[in-house]
Amino acid sequence: MFHYKSLAELSSALHAKQVSSIELTEAFLGRIERFKQLNAFITVDRERALAQARVADKRISEGKAGPLTGIPVAHKDIFCTDGMLTTCASKILSNFVAPYDATIIARFKEAGAVILGKTNMDEFAMGSSNENSYFGPVKNPWDQAAVPGGSSGGSAAAVAGGLAPAATGTDTGGSIRQPAAFCGITGLKPSYGRVSRYGMVAFASSLDQGGTLVRCAEDAACILNVMAGFDRRDSTSVDLPVPDYTQTLGHDLKGLRVGLPKEFFGEGLNTEVGQAIEQAIAEYKKLGVEVIDVDMPNCNLAVPCYYVLAPAEASSNLARYDGVRYGYRASAYTDLLDMYKKTRSQGFGAEVKRRILIGTYALSAGYYDAYYLKALKLRRLIAEDFKRAFERCDVIAGPTAPTTAFRLGAKVDDPVAMYLNDIYTIPVNLAGLPGMSIPAGFDGTGHPIGLQLIGQYFKEPRLLNVAHRYQQVTDWHNKIPKGFE
Ligand code: GLN
Repeated sequence: MFHYKSLAELSSALHAKQVSSIELTEAFLGRIERFKQLNAFITVDRERALAQARVADKRISEGKAGPLTGIPVAHKDIFCTDGMLTTCASKILSNFVAPYDATIIARFKEAGAVILGKTNMDEFAMGSSNENSYFGPVKNPWDQAAVPGGSSGGSAAAVAGGLAPAATGTDTGGSIRQPAAFCGITGLKPSYGRVSRYGMVAFASSLDQGGTLVRCAEDAACILNVMAGFDRRDSTSVDLPVPDYTQTLGHDLKGLRVGLPKEFFGEGLNTEVGQAIEQAIAEYKKLGVEVIDVDMPNCNLAVPCYYVLAPAEASSNLARYDGVRYGYRASAYTDLLDMYKKTRSQGFGAEVKRRILIGTYALSAGYYDAYYLKALKLRRLIAEDFKRAFERCDVIAGPTAPTTAFRLGAKVDDPVAMYLNDIYTIPVNLAGLPGMSIPAGFDGTGHPIGLQLIGQYFKEPRLLNVAHRYQQVTDWHNKIPKGFE
């Protein structure tokens, strides 16, 4: 049984010939089929996956394999994948076959990883529950009446349910960390610029960052080794050397300063979540860290700031879906303008339209200064909150989300309640910092709780190690949902 093994374990089993990539791929494809009701995948291409596995097996037997060679990985359906559907969970891209690979996909291919399939998500990554998908909602393996979180809900459910050993995701305001928290797995959003955005369907370009959803920090390090690096095709990609992220795992935490922002523990935080986070902090104290209080006075305005900036960027990015160049086109129309209108009216879902309306409004002449420019200034203040805090601490800790996974349908009619779910994750994107969510317990109904860890720019090695040390002394990350053993 390989479906809950770590990537390092899978890799050594492959190298020791205890299992072949074909067998491993078959096993995961079998589980995807068996747990179809989760609706975690939009596209599964069995033949393609097996063909890649065959090539990987050859590479392994020739001794040309790397750590990820032969390992099946699921990719969020936001990454362009040559010759495969890339829908972004939208009707408007429901027939779009990408003509090239996103840089992230290309890097996984070079590493010899197998593409298991493309995972379900909120349409254009807009959402916190995966209920905004044209392909229907995803279910949480811990409780199939509950949401898996969003927007990378399919990737999170796939890893939590043992349908994939690792998955990619994107995080614009929390879309890796919040679903990781809701599904009891580990999520990593790297620093802005660490991972190429080339070929990743754009939502809010100044906030979007690719990352990973996996079972533990060590796996996240293995994946980041493949994903990270400069890409001249992404002008915001940063040209910094890529360390081996697995090398620093296990370092002693003695003397490390962990900052707790009191703003992350105020009103709105569920009591059980708060208690679990306190226990996690107590665990860290045993590991020798020093805990200090820090202030984030502007973070309470992060949600309104984000809901001006992200829709503004989205309204511009989504202008390209016009029914002319690619994707869906309305079948009946009178003239060009009518074609645009019908295509976009029929092709976009309600939440996407809401964002386009908000964004277009915020960018209109006369409103630009009042909304967009103001939000930009606020963004700077939030980044400065972090800067000040990091003068006094090395890592910031707190809850990933104010609650655990809620029931499907519970918030669909209340966008503001839905938006508030990301209150602790959004500030991190506004500042461009790296962040993680790691499993830290369960509430009374058996829903997982996530601990959020936030690092300094490009200090992923330390961030990963802080997560890893906790996972060496706890076993929340090894828990498996009932029925998925
Ligand atoms: N839930 C947030 C939103 O709807 C964040 C989404 C994301 O990170 N992609 O915009």
